[in-house]
Order: sequence, then structure tokens, then C-alpha cells
Amino acid sequence: MYYCPRCNRSIAKEHVEVADRELRDRFGITKLSSLRCPVCDCEYIDLDKVKEGGRRHADKAKQKDDTP
Ligand SMILES: [Zn+2]
Repeated sequence: MYYCPRCNRSIAKEHVEVADRELRDRFGITKLSSLRCPVCDCEYIDLDKVKEGGRRHADKAKQKDDTP
């Protein structure tokens, strides 16, 4: 699982591969190949590698979503 700290969004690794192919074919965007967010150009965080920090990020994002 990858996470973009700026967009507060996480994306599954399998999905990154699919999205990367699609973005490259359709728009010529190759940012996902270098694991950068195609939206904000921020570097993705690999949540599997930094479980504690990543979980904190994810919880924070969740709380933010729940708050009206
Ligand atoms: Zn982003």
C-alpha cells in the first residue's frame, strides 16, 4: 500500500501498476513509475515499509474524513 501525505490518499500496489500503465498510455504521465503522486507530485510513502508512521497517517486521514 502506498500513501500520498499531501492528498491524504492511499493506493494499493496492484492498483499503482494498473494506474501507471493507464496514465502512461493515455496521458504520457510517468510519475507513478517513480512512485510519485500524479496529482501533487509528492513522493508516495510505502506503508508496508513504515508501518507505524503509515498507520498514524492513515488514522489521521480517517479521522479527517469522519469529521463533518
Ligand atoms: Zn498527492
